[in-house]
This record gives sequence, structure tokens and C-alpha cells, in this order.
Amino acid sequence: MPGGVDEVLVSVRPRVVPRRRRSRRLSRPSLVLIGLIVAGVTGCAIPVVAGNAARPADRTTAVPASAAAPTPSPTVRPTARRSVASRPAATPEPVATATPKPAPRRTSRPTVVVPAPVATPRPLPTPTPIPTAPPPVLGGPLPACRAGALPVLSDVVTPHHAYADWALSLLDTRYMLPASYAPPDLEPVSAAAVAGSGQLRALVMPDLKEMAAAAKAASAPIQVFSAYRSYAYQVSAFDGWVAVDGWVAALNSSARPGHSEHQLGTAIDVGSLGGAPPWNVRDWAATTKAGAWMAANAWRYGWVMSYPAGRTDVTCYAYEPWHYRYVGRAAAAELHAAGETLRQWLWPQQ
Ligand SMILES: [Zn+2]
Repeated sequence: MPGGVDEVLVSVRPRVVPRRRRSRRLSRPSLVLIGLIVAGVTGCAIPVVAGNAARPADRTTAVPASAAAPTPSPTVRPTARRSVASRPAATPEPVATATPKPAPRRTSRPTVVVPAPVATPRPLPTPTPIPTAPPPVLGGPLPACRAGALPVLSDVVTPHHAYADWALSLLDTRYMLPASYAPPDLEPVSAAAVAGSGQLRALVMPDLKEMAAAAKAASAPIQVFSAYRSYAYQVSAFDGWVAVDGWVAALNSSARPGHSEHQLGTAIDVGSLGGAPPWNVRDWAATTKAGAWMAANAWRYGWVMSYPAGRTDVTCYAYEPWHYRYVGRAAAAELHAAGETLRQWLWPQQ
């Protein structure tokens, strides 16, 4: 059995021939038949064109569209094929089936308008070999970060995405914040008397201030290199990494838009005061005084290193000795005592 687009062409030809023969014998039904054929052809053409046009959009819009709901991409292709395949029901004997039911279908002809606008192809900036998986059941065992060599991705809004839920918001390669998430209480980091630039939520300021003062007192002064990042900022940041490293490599070191803890307004990239950006320093926590002080003491002030060394299998990201997220002193102490990473600790609480 042939299938797909070829059938569209095959079905058109036989219809033309019979139409001529019949017009010699019967004059009235021939009009009806023509109407049927036209309606039949246009009726098929619409789903085919629409289906093809939808494909590129799935890929490029995956992130923003799915902020509200998981990507529908896998369903698009089957639907389009089905609409082509279902049409052949009319093809086998065009003449025989034509006679009985003429008049009503003719009215469906106006649909001719549709095909033209949808044909515009869009560029595919990130041709993804990455498998997208449905999110695992929350509260179950911590899901693996990778399937073979590739990270497992999905775009599901994290259950705790209210501004008051900042301590429980789980963000990883599966769970994300809505694109519209932008905390209303951002303040410049200078409010915590710490060097650097950027903004953070007001609620982190008291403990950030104490931490920075303690680091300074220990002759390990710190500076904030990056703080709150909007969804839009993360779009360009991630795209930048993709341009430099390629899509797969970028996923290991940069969060996709919506998946960054920086969007919470409670995460910082911190380095040595007056020093180079910590990502330009080889293992900042192991080779600098400020990095070592933060690794040993940040938890006392409610801050945890989200992506510690040697834990990529459970954090889903490469080691980042400079990235700290505020969870509050009680939670940070608990987490520290348990020896767990933030993702491990948050998962059962979702
Ligand atoms: Zn960071």
C-alpha cells in the first residue's frame, strides 16, 4: 500500500478522466462531481500544509511556549500524517461513490483560502539531538540527569513557583520558572554592603551582609559577579554559550532560559574581591582564600553551593565553585549536615 503525499497526486488524476466521460451522458451530476473533487482536494491540502509548517515551530518555540505547558512537539507529526492517510478513503472508485451524496459537500469549498500563509520556513537555531522526557513523578526517586551521553530535558513549570516559595523552587534540567517570573522586591547588592553589581531579593540581604562581613574579617573578602537574571537575559546568555560551545556542551554549564536559579533573585556568582571572575580561575574554591572560605562557611549564613565538585550526576550541571543559592540558615544547616546537594534535598519536598 502506498502512503503519504504520493497518494494525493494519484488520487487527483483518476478523477479528472471519469469526469469527462460522465459529462457526455449526464449533465447535472457532473457539476456535483466537480464540486466534490475540488472540495476533496482542498480538504486534504490544508492539513498537509499546516502539518509541515508546524514542525519547525515546535523546535524553536519549545522553551517559551512550554513555560505554560509541556511541549506538544511529538504529537504534531502523527496528526499531520493521519490526515493525509485518512483521505484515501475517497480515492479507490471516484465515479461510483460520487453519485449518491452531492449537494452538501459542495458548500465546503470556501476553505481554499488557507494554504498560502503557512508555508514560511523558520530557521532552526538549535537542532537538538536531546531526548525530551516527560517529567518523572515528583516525590519518587531522584531521576537521572542523563540518558546515555545526553542530558534529559523537559520544560515543566516547577510546582513551587510563587514568590513566597523561593526556598523550595526546584530548578534543574526538567523544572523551570515561568518566563514572567520576576521577583518584585529586588534591591542592588550594595544594600548588603558587598562589592559587585546586580540585584537580589530583599530577603537575602541581611544574611548576605553578615556573610560578606565574616569573609572580610577572615581576610577572604568576596565580591558579587552576577546576581538576578531575568528570563530574557538568560535567553541571550544561553544562546551565547551555544554559539561558543555548541548545544550539547552548553547544557552542561549553562541553564536554559527559565531553568536558571539566578531568575529566583536568590542566587549569586561570587568571587574574590578585586580578583578575576571566578570562572576564569582554576577551581576557585580550591585555589583561593575567598573560594575556600565560602566553601567551608557559606552554609552558616544560609547559602549553599548548588553544583559542588564530583556531584554532576545528581546536580545535572558541571562543578561551579562560585555559584551559591540562598535557602535560609535552617535549611542550609540541614542540607550541610545531610551532605546532600540542593537538588537531592529539594526533590522529596516537591
Ligand atoms: Zn551562577
